[in-house]
Amino acid sequence: MCLFCKIVNKEIPANLVKENDDFLAFHDINPKAPVHVLVIPKVHVDSFNDLSPETMAGMTTFIQEVAKDTGVKEAGYRVITNVGDNGGQEVKHLHWHVLGGAKLAWGHFADADSKNFL
Ligand code: 5GP
Ligand code: ZN
Repeated sequence: MCLFCKIVNKEIPANLVKENDDFLAFHDINPKAPVHVLVIPKVHVDSFNDLSPETMAGMTTFIQEVAKDTGVKEAGYRVITNVGDNGGQEVKHLHWHVLGGAKLAWGHFADADSKNFL
């Protein structure tokens, strides 16, 4: 069973933000911003590649509620899902990062010079 499935099953503790029948939101253990919440479907989905439009529909509302509940809705925030190796996905259970609480930096190229492909 994957790490986030264990969090869903309460086998590993997490600092919960919000929960309903289908989704879970909890604080990232290694936050990259003052607000850094992870939102996951309770059912295991490997990545965005396998996310159904039906599940995405529910997640949209849930993520919007998380943004409101954590106080970042009005000032702004970022929603990211990393996919696969190049995307930097470490946990192979689909999760959305909801980042906010400060002005966020922008920059993504780990091992390439952006001048080469602009
Ligand atoms: P990824 O790199 O897969 O997009 O993001 C995985 C995220 O999960 C990372 O930001 C990492 O800090 C977080 N993470 C890894 N293990 C745990 C854990 O056991 N508990 C919580 N709350 N977050 C975790
Ligand atoms: Zn899982």
